[in-house]
Amino acid sequence: MDASASEERQALRPGRNQQLVYDAMLKSGRPMRAYELLKLLHADGIRSPLQVYRVLDKLVREGKARKIETLHAFAICGKPSNGGGQVAVTICTQCGQTDAIEDAELKRQLAKLSRGSGFLAETATVELAGLCLGCQEVEA
Ligand SMILES: [Zn+2]
Repeated sequence: MDASASEERQALRPGRNQQLVYDAMLKSGRPMRAYELLKLLHADGIRSPLQVYRVLDKLVREGKARKIETLHAFAICGKPSNGGGQVAVTICTQCGQTDAIEDAELKRQLAKLSRGSGFLAETATVELAGLCLGCQEVEA
């Protein structure tokens, strides 16, 4: 076993990849698509879409990131998710900032709506696109 082989293993450690992806997303401050991350982190040793998706999945499971379905992108969560409590995500079309809105009443309504049509929903997320407070001030 030589030093370069152990360096190689070090570079493939999932914890390191997770940190790289998380830092890149945090730095960008907007939702990012998997291929963007792949392109950005290629030089750091992230070479396959699978590596990126694996890390993104983990970040979502741990409540550190969320998937923005309508953008096919992922964003860092500003505050730790309490595990499925989030029902609406706001997406600023100007600066790309995303935020989560938790509302028990909306959650109940969505559940009622799907039950009423005989559908068993596993997840329910409403995505609202528009302008964040900061961008509204700039527009005004
Ligand atoms: Zn904005």
